[in-house]
Amino acid sequence: MKIDNISVRLTSFARSVKSVLSHLPTPHRVVLGSVCLVLLVSLTLSDDSSAVPVAPGQFRSNLDLELPKAESVSLDEPSESAQEPSAIDDPSISYVVKKGDTLSTIFDFLHISQATLYQLMEADLNLLALDTIQPGHQLGFNFDEHGLKQFIFRSGLTYQVTFDRSAKGDFEFKEYIEKGGYRRQIISGTVEGDLPRSMKRAGARIAEAYQVTNLLKERMNFRSHLRAGDQFQLAVSRQYVNGEYTGNSIIEGFVYEGAVRQQSAFLFDGNYFDADGESLEKAFQRIPLAKRYRISSSFNPKRRHPVTKLIRPHNGTDFAVGIGTPVLAAGDGVVRRVIKHRYAGLYIEIQHNQKYKTRYLHLSKAYVRKGQKVSRGQKIAASGNSGRSTGAHLHYELHVNGRPVNAMTAKIPVVQTIARNKRNAFKQQVAMLTTQMSEQLMLAEKQPSE
Ligand SMILES: [Zn+2]
Repeated sequence: MKIDNISVRLTSFARSVKSVLSHLPTPHRVVLGSVCLVLLVSLTLSDDSSAVPVAPGQFRSNLDLELPKAESVSLDEPSESAQEPSAIDDPSISYVVKKGDTLSTIFDFLHISQATLYQLMEADLNLLALDTIQPGHQLGFNFDEHGLKQFIFRSGLTYQVTFDRSAKGDFEFKEYIEKGGYRRQIISGTVEGDLPRSMKRAGARIAEAYQVTNLLKERMNFRSHLRAGDQFQLAVSRQYVNGEYTGNSIIEGFVYEGAVRQQSAFLFDGNYFDADGESLEKAFQRIPLAKRYRISSSFNPKRRHPVTKLIRPHNGTDFAVGIGTPVLAAGDGVVRRVIKHRYAGLYIEIQHNQKYKTRYLHLSKAYVRKGQKVSRGQKIAASGNSGRSTGAHLHYELHVNGRPVNAMTAKIPVVQTIARNKRNAFKQQVAMLTTQMSEQLMLAEKQPSE
């Protein structure tokens, strides 16, 4: 058993984890003021001539509002001159989203018409980024004599979408993803109470601790297998942009040395395995339906609109299913969104672990609610024809590490063990991390405890 090798390496644990952590970088939190609206330039907010009256906070329930004719956008209109994003860091209005805000109330406040918001939502259909809006996110607005010219949505330190108005009056999006740099940190500690809190005391972030318990939930019972004094080590890579922690952490390795249970998890080739190379992840099902149906439109990130020739990516796979067909969860996970969207219709998003996410669009009925745990094959919805849809179908998306991929061909967790030709590389990866873990321990022991 490989685990024995690891346990030999990890026999001596540090008395004081604090001293290890004292020299680790302390991330600076963005301080978000409560006065959020910054008016830098005298404004030309002349965009409300076609405003649709919507009471604050009533955005979702007003989804059946019709677009005024003059503002409605047809994809059939030729529009070749999509603008390059400009001045993305210097919008004339910056707004930090507050608790209770919706895009609708913010646009109302800034006297930007709901019709303009609908145009943005339409452009956002292939991203659905605007549905993630939450307190702390930053919005930017640039105007010209025709109204909103550019809208910027920024979530966290790494993600930005810029919507630029094209010559034809609709919006085109551009995504910016800051890659930043990853720094590996080794954390070690001793169990006292439950595992997440013990890990937090040792210097892990609570979200990292939950990633670990989620990874090992099939292998460990976090009540009956834990004993006070059990030891653990974590290798985690944290993402930084300009020295600031972005909130993204990748668990690279975890070793649990317990009186009752010994367990490990190592990231290799995008999937998690124990030290013996056995998969920790549960398999996905390729198709979120009980049987195969005809695919009416395939995944195509470069799809061009037949008339306009503009790139209109199709980030999912469309199945030709009649209204009311049961839609099944593709894998175990937690429901992150159940949303009624003007164009995507009623849709569900499931987070499967830190890596996989699936979306199910144009539904007629949802059988799950936000926050609910679901298991693979569970009936989560009935298919439908909601939103902008030319006929009843299920639009299904699979995202890997935040990017949409072809769900019909993507590598999904179906492997149970590591392929023979990759076993040496895996062993090297495990050895490298466990060596770093034990080096960190020796370093910690040399330092005087506080
Ligand atoms: Zn589709």
